[in-house]
Amino acid sequence: MSSGDKQVDVVVLGAGVVGVSAAYAARQRGMSVVLVDRREPGSETSYGNAGVLSSGSILPLNQPSLWGALPKYLTNRHAALRWNPAWSIRNAGWLVRFLANATAAHTRPRATALRGLIGASLKLHRQWIVAANAAHRLRETGWLKAWRSDAAAAAMAEQALLTEYGIGSELLDRQGISALEPNILPVYKVGLLHTETASIDSPGAVVKAYARMFAASGGQIHQSDIKSIVQEHDHWRVVLSDGAILARHVVVALGPWSADLLQPLGYRVPLAFERGYHQEFKPNAERSLQRPIHDAEGAFIMTPMEKGIRVTSGVELTSRDAPSSFAQLDRVVPLARGVVEFGAAVAEPWRGARPTLPDSLPMIGPAPRHSRLWLAFGHQHIGFTTGPATGAAIAAMISGEQPPFDAAPFSPSRYL
Ligand SMILES: Cc1cc2nc3c(=O)[nH]c(=O)nc-3n(C[C@H](O)[C@H](O)[C@H](O)COP(=O)(O)OP(=O)(O)OC[C@H]3O[C@@H](n4cnc5c(N)ncnc54)[C@H](O)[C@@H]3O)c2cc1C
Repeated sequence: MSSGDKQVDVVVLGAGVVGVSAAYAARQRGMSVVLVDRREPGSETSYGNAGVLSSGSILPLNQPSLWGALPKYLTNRHAALRWNPAWSIRNAGWLVRFLANATAAHTRPRATALRGLIGASLKLHRQWIVAANAAHRLRETGWLKAWRSDAAAAAMAEQALLTEYGIGSELLDRQGISALEPNILPVYKVGLLHTETASIDSPGAVVKAYARMFAASGGQIHQSDIKSIVQEHDHWRVVLSDGAILARHVVVALGPWSADLLQPLGYRVPLAFERGYHQEFKPNAERSLQRPIHDAEGAFIMTPMEKGIRVTSGVELTSRDAPSSFAQLDRVVPLARGVVEFGAAVAEPWRGARPTLPDSLPMIGPAPRHSRLWLAFGHQHIGFTTGPATGAAIAAMISGEQPPFDAAPFSPSRYL
């Protein structure tokens, strides 16, 4: 692509769920938009997730209960959390900031903020997936969190919190779980069905469908490596491996790669990576699952996907590009096989990195020291859920209008 004299209104960098959503929302407002990614839309983090459109994920990992779990995590053998000691020493400052947020006083406002973002986003997902001809990928069957131990108190506490925020759920005992998921073995004593949560059978395909909808509305998709962004007079020059694009506004939606591009502009973004893995297995047609299941104590999620049962692992804290370690997957796959029968792996394990800021809230808004530069990344465990409203908020802000939720808690200026 050559820069020429032509200038577009908006260039969106990154075609994960967040970037595609921002591009589509800007296009819906009549702006000329180019969406750039080195890969096809929805090929990275937005491809490999568990496909849960979660109404209830309002409490981030760094909440007060994390303190109780820390002793078991410190052994570095738990499937829920592994951490690289050398990385942890180098990033001790980030860890301290992350843990400092795990207090009741710091958690309530974040839950309220996330409730607003999630609620707005689920509404958009439900509209867009129909408009994008991908409604057949959406399951309105909820999400089952299940405990092997007699954890009724934990389930009731979670339900009380959800109720307080107006989020529906249903407590289940062993019989209730069997009635809901007749094909699983009776390993769970207690369940909490998140009734307003949906799921999809292929996150990558849904992002691609949203990208096609963006293109059909007149948006342009360009596949290229993004090298840098430079502010010139009244526009931005986006330098690509095959040329440049001039744009009035730039949206950075590069997920776990976002901080790299911003560093030369003087922004030190405290972005860490909660890496995660998945592997897919041939389903047994007689033993199908109706919805994703979160095994609370086993620390994995199992989602019925288009190509098989996808088992996703917990969190691995290390650098973004460190070599893979399959220890967590190796731990949880046999546990998952003990819940539902499935066949051999249909593909190699996949690895991704959940991009996370110390308060576990994404950055959604203007960069503090550059005009017309917009930041949209850091969505940790719930970026697939929250992509559409993030995109809609950025498009509204570019137009000088109010976002569809209170975006103040997500302001990039809290860290930059
Ligand atoms: C194991 C796992 C399970 C998860 N489960 C869920 C779930 O069930 N529900 C949920 O809501 N969320 C889930 N998430 C989180 C969710 O997947 C992410 O928060 C979300 O996908 C982030 O989207 P994004 O658009 O910000 O980033 P990405 O999808 O990573 O997109 C960033 C894009 O930027 C592009 N890019 C980067 N650098 C360059 C460059 N220099 N030039 C060109 N292009 C570039 C990449 O190619 C990529 O396409 C999960 C994550 C993991 C890892």
